[in-house]
Amino acid sequence: TATADTTPNYVITTDATYPPFDFQDKNNQYVGIDQDILKEIAKREGFTYTLKPMSFNAATQSVTSDQADGVIAGMSITDERRQVFDFSTPYYKSGIAWAVSKDSKVKSLDDLRGKTVAIKTGTSGANYALSVQKKYGFKVTYFNDSETLYRDVINGNSVATFGDLPVLQYSIKNGTQLKVMNPKDPFEAGEYGFAVKKGGNAKLLASFNEGFAEIKKDGTYDKIVNKYLDASA
Ligand code: GLN
Repeated sequence: TATADTTPNYVITTDATYPPFDFQDKNNQYVGIDQDILKEIAKREGFTYTLKPMSFNAATQSVTSDQADGVIAGMSITDERRQVFDFSTPYYKSGIAWAVSKDSKVKSLDDLRGKTVAIKTGTSGANYALSVQKKYGFKVTYFNDSETLYRDVINGNSVATFGDLPVLQYSIKNGTQLKVMNPKDPFEAGEYGFAVKKGGNAKLLASFNEGFAEIKKDGTYDKIVNKYLDASA
């Protein structure tokens, strides 16, 4: 607990498995673009934090229910979320894509009729899928974590998923047996932000933004991103 002379210690939640943004390295340390950014910003801004990895849905709800101070989890900045969160400066561009198993015969969204689509609870990808569900006539099944969801599609229990393009591409590059159907034209563009509860933790948010501006300016941010996503990919 912080007193006047000690550095603040914040509770920050994250998605337990969301490479290349949040994941565990072989020593079980949390790494990834989000984690490296947060670590660097905390160091520069003079705060410490307790990281709490969980499902994405739980990570965001922990903040709205005051069990955590902030969330960094490849979280898309949306108008709906702005009602309940204050977001940092956007730190990464993303977009929503759909993917099927590598050998799938599915060619278009119309092929999803009557089939089951796997979506991740509480995500913008899930929201997008639900917005076109009637039109294409598919059923949905929910997952809390991306790894289990991918396995369900690869196993053929479900035929497709909707999610963040850079995350799907990173997993595929690292061996996940899926293929992205619309790599060139994501359904929706989006940006990731660090979030605190609306009207709460203004100091933490200001520190994040200040630190982020610094690491953006001096090249540290680019170095972090390139460490996970080299340009040759
Ligand atoms: N970017 C998506 C969202 O904000 C997914 C985040 C995630 O699964 N960690 O809903």
